[in-house]
Amino acid sequence: MQSSVSNAGMYSIQYNRKRCIGCGLCASLAPERWIMNEKDGKAILQRARGKDHIFRARVLDIRRPREADECPAHAISASPA
Ligand code: SF4
Repeated sequence: MQSSVSNAGMYSIQYNRKRCIGCGLCASLAPERWIMNEKDGKAILQRARGKDHIFRARVLDIRRPREADECPAHAISASPA
């Protein structure tokens, strides 16, 4: 718990959409950042910039974004920004 608080700040999220298997976990964990695309079933990182299948967004959070650790397809990474 304490480590979560100490990790508060800006994070850079990178999303490889080609890897997404459409499980919906990211949208469940952080609905303020992720929505599911009804057409192809894959996640969309909101307010992201991207090219081809790689998308990036800077986010403010009280801890390292959990979806970066829990995405089963390893499609998401996060680092301090
Ligand atoms: S958690 Fe990963 S695999 Fe699941 S919908 Fe999100 S990006 Fe796709």
